Amino acid sequence: MNFHILTLFPEMVMNGLLTSITGRAVTKGLLSIEAINIRDYAYNKHHSVDDYPYGGGAGMLMQAEPVYQAYESVKKKINKKPRVVYLSPQGATFTQHMAEEFAKEEDLVLLCGHYEGIDERVLEEIVTDYVSIGDYVLTGGELPAMVMVDTISRLVPGVLHNDVSAEFESFQENLLEYPQYSRPEVWHEKKVPEVLLSGHHAKIEKWRREQSVIRTKQRRPDLLQKCNLTEEEKKLVDKM
Ligand code: SAM
Repeated sequence: MNFHILTLFPEMVMNGLLTSITGRAVTKGLLSIEAINIRDYAYNKHHSVDDYPYGGGAGMLMQAEPVYQAYESVKKKINKKPRVVYLSPQGATFTQHMAEEFAKEEDLVLLCGHYEGIDERVLEEIVTDYVSIGDYVLTGGELPAMVMVDTISRLVPGVLHNDVSAEFESFQENLLEYPQYSRPEVWHEKKVPEVLLSGHHAKIEKWRREQSVIRTKQRRPDLLQKCNLTEEEKKLVDKM
């Protein structure tokens, strides 16, 4: 999968994403991540890419043309019209389900705004999806773009050491993940639950599913409404 990030701060996204698991995936050729500097497409001698908003108001706005030309450079390179995500607090909130859907793309363009945002006209022409990472306002779209690349990359086959580890995680089937334990068996007088030491796989699976249901009810009861619970699990939840 190929990520193309349109940004005014290429070093910020590349430094972050070429570290750890995503960095290794790039080295292995499982992913490619490029940052296109929108400032390279500035069309005045000062290389400025922002201007005052018409009608007044606080702050500056990124101009349409440099963003458009940066997008055109990607389109030309990959020889097709790509899906373009504008990271914006006004977008739909990013979810694991959306990440699964984006992971099917071969190329994904992520457009990072800055200042007060971007001239609406270029957004109308190039953006296919508006995505927010939560109901708060950041200074730029770079961190949100990194959040998206990180989340989507984990779903690309081969990126995680063990492909299975991306499967049994929080949000699968609208449940949170069960509690996990590693060595030592006893820590601060707390013992690992007996069933996990039993080697009995069916019992372990049953315990984990039950713990997921309990944890989801405690921490994210909103998710349970979208979850297919068995009659037994419904009773368990009602008792809590
Ligand atoms: N004036 C804009 C508004 O009220 O919608 C906010 C602009 S914000 C200061 C600058 C840039 O940060 C945005 O263009 C967007 O790319 C990014 N950004 C800020 N908060 C975000 C969020 N919650 N999710 C995704 N991107 C965000």
